[in-house]
Amino acid sequence: MKMVVQQLADDVRLKEGMNACMNCGICTAVCPAAEYFEYDPRSIVVAVQSGNEEKIQQLLTSDTIWMCGQCMSCKTRCPRSNCPGIIINVLRKVSQATGAFVQSRLGRQQYLIMKTIGANLLRYGYCIHPSAVDIQNHPEQGPVWEWVYSNREEVYERLGANLDREGPGAMRKIATNDLLELAVIFEQSGGTVLWQSIETHSKNKAIELGLVDSQGNPCMDLYTNYLLNEDPEF
Ligand code: SF4
Ligand code: SF4
Repeated sequence: MKMVVQQLADDVRLKEGMNACMNCGICTAVCPAAEYFEYDPRSIVVAVQSGNEEKIQQLLTSDTIWMCGQCMSCKTRCPRSNCPGIIINVLRKVSQATGAFVQSRLGRQQYLIMKTIGANLLRYGYCIHPSAVDIQNHPEQGPVWEWVYSNREEVYERLGANLDREGPGAMRKIATNDLLELAVIFEQSGGTVLWQSIETHSKNKAIELGLVDSQGNPCMDLYTNYLLNEDPEF
């Protein structure tokens, strides 16, 4: 397998995201995620710039790279026109491709995101769709989401949306041909391969955790439940 430094360099986005970092810390000063987490985009850029294999491996297996909210505020302020948000995108992709993501709590959540937001995109053409919200998985929303879910047709009608129907408007049904085109883009741009990697490494992690059925195969319902209840470390 290639060194991770080379795997990062192979992604054209790294050239777009990093010119030369002078370690000034402006990206961290403007970063909203740094307000909420022990998170410092400056140190991520410095580690990638160093080309140090060990430091980059640590990033790939850490919670840190999953804390970025992808707002790209850092891009607009960096005096060297770097974009830590894009560099983090590249780190995430290599973490998914190598399986390093299963070594951190936030990384493991890639499995949940793939099964929800990812699946919604291909099925509905939307990241989040009102008909696909599993209210059991969102207890933090209290009874409001449950009520909205149960009354969604009336609620979206009153909001002027066109939920799941043909024609224009918010939350309209996306045409089958457009969904097929989306699936082709996903396939051609490498999304399918990354999904397979997330699936495979998540199954291996489930086995490692003993979350298996009577035949010793990974039980992904148990694994999902494990991820939903995994204690935050911060
Ligand atoms: S703002 Fe730009 S130059 Fe300054 S630390 Fe961040 S990435 Fe480096
Ligand atoms: S893109 Fe990520 S690193 Fe950049 S400012 Fe937004 S949250 Fe911070």
